[in-house]
Amino acid sequence: MPIYEFRCHKCGHRFEKLCSMGESGANIQCPACSAPAPQRVMSGFCKKGSGDPVTGGGGGGGCSTCSSSNCSSCGH
Ligand SMILES: [Zn+2]
Repeated sequence: MPIYEFRCHKCGHRFEKLCSMGESGANIQCPACSAPAPQRVMSGFCKKGSGDPVTGGGGGGGCSTCSSSNCSSCGH
């Protein structure tokens, strides 16, 4: 089973959880504040410390870990 990374939309807490394929987070609670349905983010993208600044490349750009147009919403 894959490990998915989730981000709480309420408190911003990020955590990883081993869950079944396709888990959307709807059945998960934030371990920090117990808010339901954290946002799932994709691990491996937009990692801190990669040394690669956000170049804006990729067209339609933005952060790979979230659907927003910039990284301010995901802390990256
Ligand atoms: Zn939370």
